[in-house]
Amino acid sequence: MNAFTEAGRGGQGADSRADPTPDLAVALAAVVGAAHVLTTAADMARYETEWRRNYPGRARAVVRPGSTEEVSRVVAACAAAGVPIVPQGGNTGLVGGSTPDESGTEVVLSLDRMRAVRSVDPLDRTLTIEAGCTVLEAQAAAEAAGRLFPLSLASEGSATVGGVVSTNAGGEQVLRYGNTRELVLGLEVVLADGRVLDLLTALRKDNTGYDLKQLFIGAEGTLGVVTAATFKLFSRPRQVVTAWVAVRDPQAAVQLLSLLTDALGERVTAFELIGDGPLGLVLRHGTPGMRAPLGAVSPWSVLLDVSEASALVDPRPSVEQVLSAAMEEGVVLDAALAASETQALAFWALREHVPEAQRLEGPSIKHDISVPISRIPDFIERAGHALQQAMPGIRIVCFGHVGDGNLHYNQSKPEGMADADFRARENAVHDIVHAAAAELNGSISAEHGIGRQKQDAFLTYKSPVAIDTMARIKHALDPAAIFNPGRVLPRARVDSLTPF
Ligand SMILES: Cc1cc2nc3c(=O)[nH]c(=O)nc-3n(C[C@H](O)[C@H](O)[C@H](O)COP(=O)(O)OP(=O)(O)OC[C@H]3O[C@@H](n4cnc5c(N)ncnc54)[C@H](O)[C@@H]3O)c2cc1C
Repeated sequence: MNAFTEAGRGGQGADSRADPTPDLAVALAAVVGAAHVLTTAADMARYETEWRRNYPGRARAVVRPGSTEEVSRVVAACAAAGVPIVPQGGNTGLVGGSTPDESGTEVVLSLDRMRAVRSVDPLDRTLTIEAGCTVLEAQAAAEAAGRLFPLSLASEGSATVGGVVSTNAGGEQVLRYGNTRELVLGLEVVLADGRVLDLLTALRKDNTGYDLKQLFIGAEGTLGVVTAATFKLFSRPRQVVTAWVAVRDPQAAVQLLSLLTDALGERVTAFELIGDGPLGLVLRHGTPGMRAPLGAVSPWSVLLDVSEASALVDPRPSVEQVLSAAMEEGVVLDAALAASETQALAFWALREHVPEAQRLEGPSIKHDISVPISRIPDFIERAGHALQQAMPGIRIVCFGHVGDGNLHYNQSKPEGMADADFRARENAVHDIVHAAAAELNGSISAEHGIGRQKQDAFLTYKSPVAIDTMARIKHALDPAAIFNPGRVLPRARVDSLTPF
């Protein structure tokens, strides 16, 4: 691993990139240690592109502070040098917010060394944990204290606390526990001038002025660097019933959700719709032994969890009762209840493997729209029809969190179409899908955010007053635009603010 100071002295290594501001190089190395400032192409490669390799860039350097104080000093040094910073967690973001642009001027600030679990309090039901810990590590820390950290998403082995806070990540249990925003009690954030805003708290109620933490949740690294968070924890469920259910159509899925919620309330913790498109890809590309739980692949399936915190009440009979009634009404076609935890995990593996299977299938176009739950069937019908008109044979890979009105409405290319032809029509596909969501009072992004990918749609569909208000907040907190410039809000939009 070459140190920044070496590159600053002339970039002797074959793959070193000469740094135009050696003073900054020296300053950063003095803060974090030379070993934690990376400058060679080989060392920086994994920080310069993300999981799907859609947003490759070139960093000026990658800096890896090990404490909040070091983050503060790194930010202050970059601010003094006028050098933009791209905060980065697990780099699993899907909209190009976590990687540097092509300019070679941006410093990637990776939180991957900030991995302390600061405290777990089973009585307060709180977990305070540093930004570089993965979601899986947060879950494990809670479990060790007999509590549940309920955030769960397919990228949880890599996605970090800082990343899920900054993207307000959702996942599979939002139905019961809410998005990341609902789980955060407090944050610690480094501001654009290097000051530390300490909002860490275990308080459930605090009405003293503006709720500042909310500004940084979902801000995609454009307002500050999140260094730690305090989360709410929950009782661990004693019993979970997992079921794979073939439903008549998406309308039936929405009806089933309503029937289950009427009968079981918030014990319904997950409710995922899975079309035959994604299930087919998983069976093609998944690990050996993966099989459809009901034998045949139904056009539409639901994967659901019902969780019970009490050991005294068995939720299984209630689930069976609801499913039988729904079967009599023709809503449910067939169902399998997992007989063991191993089988439940096998059901969930099918769902979790969808993103990887779609990646292995070839180029894909992704969307994470949301609409009111009752409009999901309409959305699937409208968008599917419009896409087939525009590109006959396009394959719809539709799955997602129906309980939150949120679909991953993705596309794979028609059989036989060249990759380049498919990619060339990506924007036209986005336009069709986003327009269908907007017509139904939906959102172009329920989970992944805006980043660099969705700016056009963001500017088209978000209210101009909302955009103007966001630009003013950005300008107030980061007047020199050092944090993730050009992500979420186009740079020109912030620069062209007119006074109130
Ligand atoms: C297979 C797969 C499945 C996924 N499933 C889901 C899902 O179900 N639900 C969902 O919501 N998302 C999902 N995602 C998207 C992604 O995992 C989330 O957006 C996640 O929150 C990103 O976390 P990260 O640590 O990887 O952040 P990164 O990708 O590193 O960064 C994401 C954004 O946050 C900013 N950021 C990161 N850390 C900080 C910090 N400490 N301070 C300030 N800004 C920061 C970055 O600048 C960037 O803008 C999935 C992704 C993959 C690859």
